[in-house]
Amino acid sequence: RKDVGRITTGSKALDELIGGGIETQAITEVFGEFGSGKSQLSHELAVTVQLPEERGGLDAEAVFIDTENTFRPERIEQIANAFELDLEEVLNKIHIARAFNSSHQILMAEKVNELIQEGKNIRLVIVDSLTAHFRAEYVGREALATRQQKLNQHLHTLQNIANTYNAAVFVTNQVQARPDAFFGSPTKAIGGHVLGHAATYRIWLKKGLAGKRIARLVDSPHLPEGECVFKITTAGIVD
Ligand code: ATP
Repeated sequence: RKDVGRITTGSKALDELIGGGIETQAITEVFGEFGSGKSQLSHELAVTVQLPEERGGLDAEAVFIDTENTFRPERIEQIANAFELDLEEVLNKIHIARAFNSSHQILMAEKVNELIQEGKNIRLVIVDSLTAHFRAEYVGREALATRQQKLNQHLHTLQNIANTYNAAVFVTNQVQARPDAFFGSPTKAIGGHVLGHAATYRIWLKKGLAGKRIARLVDSPHLPEGECVFKITTAGIVD
């Protein structure tokens, strides 16, 4: 893949773990239990993608597909302040799309193409949460196959955006704090089978002591497995 761009997470340790920041032309899935920091990372990246390249950004804009009403402008303000960015400008460059159900979520992802064709320099698409609507709507064993098929269709749209516009896709997935959280990844199937060439990174977030977070990179295409520690502070994600 040519001209891959990277977006800083705010933490040097986490950036290094994933090869220098989250990648364009790829889908990065962050999974973990409630409160592990998935939405915090989403907010951080919506700001850092706007930074110039020498500060770890892509000098670009973000789409934030918000499925659980987690987007908080106040949080963006704190992070923008930490980077000494103008709040109004930062908010203008985050395109919020509230998705009310899974079909609406799929539609919102498809609409990103239009936004870009209108001239918006979008290099990051966040879906927080990727899986919540699908889980709520397709319940029970009989619905599992349909759920995965719909999710695959959605991921396919997102991967196309990533490839076509050299954009990064960042999706969150809430899972219980159990070891079998490793399985049943929505993105693993697509990365492995449906789209053979798709790079997919999976980061497992865990709560540590004293407000720390532990990130573990799992089954990534060409990076070693490993862990790092970062913190969530008022200023955002830091080492
Ligand atoms: P869920 O699956 O429930 O949405 P999540 O993984 O998205 O959970 P986040 O909302 O990203 O969780 O993380 C919430 C945690 O982030 C809080 O419990 C708190 O520890 C931390 N946090 C949030 N805002 C701040 C802040 N301004 N300063 C410091 N820590 C914060």
